[in-house]
Amino acid sequence: MVRVESPTAELGTPRVLTAAWVAPVAAPPLPSGGVRIADGRITAVGPAAGIIRPGDRVDDLGAALLTPGLVNPHTHLELTDYAGRIPPGSLWEWLPRLVVLRRAPGQAERETAAVARGAAQSLAAGVTCVGDISRLNLHWRVLRRRPIRKVCYVELLALADDPPRNVDELRAAADEVVEDDRLTVGFTPHAPYSVPADQLRAALRLAHERGRPWCTHWAETRAERAFLLGETAALPPFLRDLLAQCGLRSPGLSAIELLERCAADVRPGLLAHFNYAEAGEAERLAAAGHTVVYCPRAHQYFGHPPHPFRAMQRAGVRVALGTDSAASNHDLRLLAEAQFVLTQTPDPPPPAALLRMITLDAAHALELGATIGSLEPGKWADLAAFPCDPASPDPVADLVRTAPAPLGVWVAGTRVI
Ligand SMILES: [Zn+2]
Repeated sequence: MVRVESPTAELGTPRVLTAAWVAPVAAPPLPSGGVRIADGRITAVGPAAGIIRPGDRVDDLGAALLTPGLVNPHTHLELTDYAGRIPPGSLWEWLPRLVVLRRAPGQAERETAAVARGAAQSLAAGVTCVGDISRLNLHWRVLRRRPIRKVCYVELLALADDPPRNVDELRAAADEVVEDDRLTVGFTPHAPYSVPADQLRAALRLAHERGRPWCTHWAETRAERAFLLGETAALPPFLRDLLAQCGLRSPGLSAIELLERCAADVRPGLLAHFNYAEAGEAERLAAAGHTVVYCPRAHQYFGHPPHPFRAMQRAGVRVALGTDSAASNHDLRLLAEAQFVLTQTPDPPPPAALLRMITLDAAHALELGATIGSLEPGKWADLAAFPCDPASPDPVADLVRTAPAPLGVWVAGTRVI
């Protein structure tokens, strides 16, 4: 891991963005608010009239709601171009079809271009930071030249034809990554059925020792949970054969027990999906401090029953929303995930909580909660401005209900949309 200076931060005259409404997320929405920015960072947030100083450049955004830039904690941008290529169905129907698409000639070139398109689509949707996973470790080379902020997770998959297939290869791949103020490397052992338990544990340990975030797909299907307990026959035949070829065996533990063994003595991490939880597991997740990332539209795409995220939140688990890849979704619009939860699921969280799940909660999932995810002095000026009715009594509810495209997007104070 090499680190270089960030090319992003806009230096020069302090600037104040003012708008009909500002939603800092860490505080209630402000009418006629403003955000003061200097050297790429937020220096003040409050009523516009109170934060403008002599000499500041003032940009009034008018009928807009200014929010933190949205944070998509779980995606695979290299799969962006496979959107619409696989019909909705179970994960086990989807996976072999995805493998066929990916193995078509020209994979590296195609998926490199897809990362760039995925980043552009994300920014255009108000997403200023992604937690992105790449199987071929090609994402960071593309994304470091793009203004979007990112955690580039390097993936360990024991079943794969290409490295990293073990922790030594994972370490070597991560060592290639060039980090800067906008790019952080992360570590991701793929899932508990595709990585042996000792390698899983070693990968999380490596992330911990390097002081970098980790994520993994966990408890995504019932079959996975059954496999972990020893019911190998629960998996589809193609996967059983593949696991047998690679010498991968069931650890004979429940999903939560395996997690607790692998993640003992490391900082908490990001668990993508956790679609199936049993009694008492939410409390154990909360005690460990992990973040669960629920991907609502991908969840529906794969035909899962309702996600237990509300029970998890009530038990104290931090839950963020993500898109997963465009290959199992309609697009990469993170705000549409919050809209989906608000309008199409029973017992949704309030709109303000949903906005937090795609900003500050997601930032914490990426271990970036101290520097992005809310509008607070000292944080990076990563912002999105959405159209709003200045007279609305609840512009955040309007935002989540209608999920409009942003009017403007800023990363470290530089306007990128
Ligand atoms: Zn995923």
